[in-house]
Amino acid sequence: MSTTLNAKETTKSRDEIAAEYKWNFSDIYPSWEAWQADFDQLMTKMDEVAAYKGTISKSAANLAKALKTQDELSVIAYKVYLYPMLQKDVDTRNMEALGKLQQVQMAFAKFGVATAWITPELLTIPQETMMKWIAETPELKDQKFGMEDMYRNQERVMSEDKEKIVSYFGPTSGTASSVYSSLTTADVEFPTIKLANGEEVTLTHGAYSKILSTDNNRENRKAAKEAYEPVYRKKLNTIASIYKGIVDNDWAHAQVRGYNSCLEAALDGNNIPTDVYLNLINTVKENTAPLQRYHKVRAQILNLEGDYHGYDSRISISDFEKKYPYDEAKEMVVEAVKPLGEDYNVKIKKAIANGWLDVYETPGKRSGAYSINVYGVHPFMLLNYNGTMDYVFTLAHELGHTLHSMLSSENQPFSTHNYTIFVAEVASTFNERLMLDHMLSNTKDPHERIALLQQAIEGITGTFYAQAMFADFEYQAHSLAEQGKPITAESLSAICDDLDKAYYGDAFVKDNNKPSMFWARIPHFYNSPFYVYQYATCFASSAEIYNKVTTGKKKDRKIALEKYITLLKSGGNDYPMNQLKKAGVDLSTKEPILAIINQLDNLVTQLEQEVAKLK
Ligand SMILES: [Zn+2]
Repeated sequence: MSTTLNAKETTKSRDEIAAEYKWNFSDIYPSWEAWQADFDQLMTKMDEVAAYKGTISKSAANLAKALKTQDELSVIAYKVYLYPMLQKDVDTRNMEALGKLQQVQMAFAKFGVATAWITPELLTIPQETMMKWIAETPELKDQKFGMEDMYRNQERVMSEDKEKIVSYFGPTSGTASSVYSSLTTADVEFPTIKLANGEEVTLTHGAYSKILSTDNNRENRKAAKEAYEPVYRKKLNTIASIYKGIVDNDWAHAQVRGYNSCLEAALDGNNIPTDVYLNLINTVKENTAPLQRYHKVRAQILNLEGDYHGYDSRISISDFEKKYPYDEAKEMVVEAVKPLGEDYNVKIKKAIANGWLDVYETPGKRSGAYSINVYGVHPFMLLNYNGTMDYVFTLAHELGHTLHSMLSSENQPFSTHNYTIFVAEVASTFNERLMLDHMLSNTKDPHERIALLQQAIEGITGTFYAQAMFADFEYQAHSLAEQGKPITAESLSAICDDLDKAYYGDAFVKDNNKPSMFWARIPHFYNSPFYVYQYATCFASSAEIYNKVTTGKKKDRKIALEKYITLLKSGGNDYPMNQLKKAGVDLSTKEPILAIINQLDNLVTQLEQEVAKLK
């Protein structure tokens, strides 16, 4: 990343870029003076909240006033935090913004202490009384879902002395994860290889990934893989011990809280039934044919039938290299999302017009892309737009998040405006799919069509199939601990070997019978267990809603669209499973999972047809 940041001859400075392509910070505050005034107000509100201590359990009126003040405080806190934060992101060398950001972080620490009493005091109010207050007090109506969830979580809280004992182990529960992080980032010695052109490259994680996905010289990719893999392979026993630490810790915590399994404990936060998870991993494992077919088509296009390796799986299958200027790309997104209706269209035009997007890479700007909502103002999207096809889809993706935030903020009170990751990626992947349809309908060039299909297919293989396979691994590895079976490099590799076989069949040439070791390489397994499945369920939900909105009778399509827009307006006003059910998706059934699998099947068929045209 540093090489691109330093490439100043191609990167314009912020001053050289027209205002319409940059964030307009004055939408949040006209000046640092105005920011300071709100910062001061934040401190005053903090004292106001603290003054309610001991009163909120006395009456509904007190409770309503305290929670209202807390919400007002949170709205200001968002703005006060994000104003310097966004300025830092467009130029990480901005010392003024960094200083203000530290000031906010210190205030937040105080805020945590000042409000720590609220939940314990709320919990002294019996649930029945609380529900009666909410029913009788209009000012408390918006708090219903949050309160119900609080009482639900309370069921797992133990007596004070038991909680105290558990708390002593708090600091140790993150140890395994931080050891993994040190071992695979800070302390790792990356190998160096010589490419075919004589250039020496140090194989950092990023450099390795770049060679595998962009280097058309096969010998380079092969050399990179052979040099990079031992970084993990030489430490497999150590990494297995670290992973055992993660799994043992998960199982201990699950048992302390009275859960039957690690999975049940992990899904309880969002109130997701374990069936949803098991349905996902089992249904995907039974339906890997389209995935294998895709890799066979790739092998054929690349002329590698019978000799197709893991290091051939990410390289582009077309030599299409058109650049899409940003001004064209944004108009393409507007056209693409037309099926979502007039209101959506008006909103997306607003989102691309008014300094909500910070488009281009500039010196010191952070990498990547995101959309973040400043409640009460509007969402801000950061891009490092480079004109590739991939970035056109990223733009559509981030605008999906932005529209979701706009619709939720407009239609929800502060307390329920925020949505969970479980529904977040539905909006973004839906827009990507509409973008694909739009772009396919506008080109007859088989090269562009092949590139588009590869783009869409790899979205599904990378975000749906791979994540479902990872989720399957996590489930099986945690089951070992629950059954008292050993967790070792051998047992973990055995799980991965079976999964590799189930997912990829004989699509790849297996390297010298070396055991599979993806378990050692996926940081999510070590940072946030049982997290990645949500990418897969989001993709599946999005595919099913897409089917309902775009196919079938006109009347049914209209109803499906209304339900989808209602989902986007609903923020976090219910558990994600319920929100999706209201939008017509039942993740405890196979239907949504099969929707995305069939989508892949169709896309691979289209790819085969385009490839045939080239012959
Ligand atoms: Zn996203």
